[in-house]
Amino acid sequence: MSLAAEGLCRQLRFSAGATLGRRYPEPPHPYRNDFQRDRDRIVHARAFRRLEDKTQVFTAGLSDHFRNRLTHTIEVAQIARTVAGVLGLNEDLTEALALAHDIGHPPFAHSGEEELNRQMSRFGERFDHNLHALRIVESFEQRYARFPGLNLTFEVREGIVKHSRDFAPGEYPELEEYLPGMRPPLEAQLIDLADEIAYNTADLDDAFSARFFDMDDVAESVPEYAEIRAAVETQFPGAPARIRFNEALRRLIDLLVSGLIEGTLQAVQESGVKSVEDVRLHPVRLARFTPAAVATTAALKQFLRRRVYFTEALIEERRRSAAMIAGLFQFFLENPDRLPESYREESKGQPLHRVVCDYIAGMTDGYLRRMHDTFCSR
Ligand code: MG
Repeated sequence: MSLAAEGLCRQLRFSAGATLGRRYPEPPHPYRNDFQRDRDRIVHARAFRRLEDKTQVFTAGLSDHFRNRLTHTIEVAQIARTVAGVLGLNEDLTEALALAHDIGHPPFAHSGEEELNRQMSRFGERFDHNLHALRIVESFEQRYARFPGLNLTFEVREGIVKHSRDFAPGEYPELEEYLPGMRPPLEAQLIDLADEIAYNTADLDDAFSARFFDMDDVAESVPEYAEIRAAVETQFPGAPARIRFNEALRRLIDLLVSGLIEGTLQAVQESGVKSVEDVRLHPVRLARFTPAAVATTAALKQFLRRRVYFTEALIEERRRSAAMIAGLFQFFLENPDRLPESYREESKGQPLHRVVCDYIAGMTDGYLRRMHDTFCSR
């Protein structure tokens, strides 16, 4: 990367001093800036710890080595921080956003999210894990005497609601304060793509461990992988298959991370943006992969869909998880007195289906199974 390019991105760095601040003003900390404090608040949140028992793709139990949503989150943070560092962006803001990016995820990965959304659609509403994450950090986490929630900075809350997409004015009346129609700072734009690199490569790794396929299968479907693999075979012909796989995997991660750095730099250069304000006003996001990395990511996703996500075993697993969520949702709708005291308190101001949804969304996989065993299996 040229020094000129590095200098260019440095102008786009969101400095902690420029924050729009917290909902409830607080005195500055003697040695941590606002984004470092936000990062620490997220790490200390109960919802963050619960990620440990939430499925990423493979349910724990079959192997001790599968990712869960917590280890996935740490991988995303590591990738995002590296990219932010190389581009001269704010690593503290990036890290806080990466650590928060899945904090609103319900139990049982995407099938959990889909099922909660399906349940809420019966009432003309929906479930979105990014919006749920905002509710967690704004009100469900109770740690401070002076305010509800974690009182995070505006930029971290904005990054949470704009994690996967931007929105237009009027699209979400409850989110009007988060600059609809504008792009979030580059630090926030990076997270979704770092997430993609982390889960595509981790799912490949976990599924390889679970013997869903071998290296030949990946090489046949992902041209870049075939090249990487050929280089690894030449360099380490005698190494065991697992080691050769690991060597290829880390080169694949490297290639995608480099693709994200280069793609973002190119986009920034071509766009002519010169400030964080320009980034906000630019019509499209500027964090992006190079065309080559886009192609590799697409090939990887297609391979994973075919050989992992839509295999009989995982479809069946998702069906069982969704049925458990549906059963428990119905149970609490019919028996609101079985909700915990705090949730019953809360339900006074809110429709019951929303309270039930919030309660179930916060559960770990294990807790949901236990609740289901207690209330729904007879
Ligand atoms: Mg994620």
